[in-house]
Amino acid sequence: DASVSHDPIAELDRWDAWAARNRADFPFFSAPENAGVAYLDSAATALQPHVVIAKHVQVSSTFDGNVWRGMYAASARSTAAYQEAREKVAAFLGAEPREVVFTANTTHAVNLAARGWAAHRLRPGDVVLVAENEHHSNLVPWMQLAQDAGLRLRFIPLDSAGRIDMAAYRELLRDGAALVCVAHVSNILGIENPIASMAELAHRAGARILVDAAQSAPHVAIDVNELGADFLALSGHKTFGPTGIGVLWARRDVMAEMRPVATGGGTVSEVSFEGVYHRQTPYCFEAGTPPYEQAICLGEAVDYMQRLGMGAMRGHVRAMTRYALRALSFCEGATVLGDQSADDGSLGIVSFAVDGISNETLCALLARMQVANRAGAHCALPFVDALGVPGICRMSIGPYTTKEDIEAWAFAIQEAKRACA
Ligand code: PLP
Repeated sequence: DASVSHDPIAELDRWDAWAARNRADFPFFSAPENAGVAYLDSAATALQPHVVIAKHVQVSSTFDGNVWRGMYAASARSTAAYQEAREKVAAFLGAEPREVVFTANTTHAVNLAARGWAAHRLRPGDVVLVAENEHHSNLVPWMQLAQDAGLRLRFIPLDSAGRIDMAAYRELLRDGAALVCVAHVSNILGIENPIASMAELAHRAGARILVDAAQSAPHVAIDVNELGADFLALSGHKTFGPTGIGVLWARRDVMAEMRPVATGGGTVSEVSFEGVYHRQTPYCFEAGTPPYEQAICLGEAVDYMQRLGMGAMRGHVRAMTRYALRALSFCEGATVLGDQSADDGSLGIVSFAVDGISNETLCALLARMQVANRAGAHCALPFVDALGVPGICRMSIGPYTTKEDIEAWAFAIQEAKRACA
């Protein structure tokens, strides 16, 4: 196990070799269009390995019958594969298949929890706590619901290092809260929030907790029971699967409290002119033809991650993040957002700025040098506004990120600085 090495240079080299081996799994790197690209934007969308791409082809060519309704073999195959994907996702989360709803992405999953559970379980005046740096997808649905249902939204502050201020969180819970909505890993700072402690405190205060795992699912082993979550959301395209698929996990008893939001075909067992009987959970939440091809491919992506090993994924991403932070510390005028010095620092995300260059210009210059980063507010406008900056650059890491990618990135930052001097 490379993660227990006491020689940091040898350890980094081992992770580098691990990532270099993984690159062979990702056709992105052998496409002529991507020659020489340092892909450092996996937090936006991760690359797909060839096993997932091959699954797309297989599903489209042989599994193509619609799920549930067909009596013929092709439909039976897709139905079985769709259900098998649900089992794989459930096992990946330490959950039961019946607790897994397939959605379009994390955003839809959070909206389903908001409209399918909170809208009728919470009462006017109830408080929803949201961390200050949440992604819009775990913020706007709660703002909108607060407006529609008379809920009160309160914000959990961060400390100067960008971590959840646990004293302030306890205080907010003492004042009363019905629901806590928080990211497992921040999409801006890459910091892993102490979900298990937050969940315990929330439950003691009588609140439920929704965990946005969009940025943690690609890097860490998730066990919903160990986390103590009530809801958890993730996206397929960030976990090496396709776009158009996501997951809302809800604990069995919590899911039983949910009501269908979108209804129609797929959600009902009986319909007459007099009324409707809904299917059992989780199927009553999957309206219309579900994205079964994407779900089956997500199942393949989950298998792929488990073959690499979530312990290795975490070890590699930590080692490469540390390497990136060190490389950035040699770039004149570059600063990092949040306190990344702690050993339990960022998981695969470095948000940074360079004196005298706007985030957009910097990312455009990096792109010209074949370095794929992202500029802007990263869907967290209130948080970025509060920092007093118009936007930030973000680099992010996947299991195919090597030392060479990071060196190319740091070199490009120095070149950009020189070009703008
Ligand atoms: N939550 C977090 C923390 C994210 O980073 C993202 C995407 O960047 C989302 C939610 C939204 O994901 P999606 O666009 O797949 O719905």
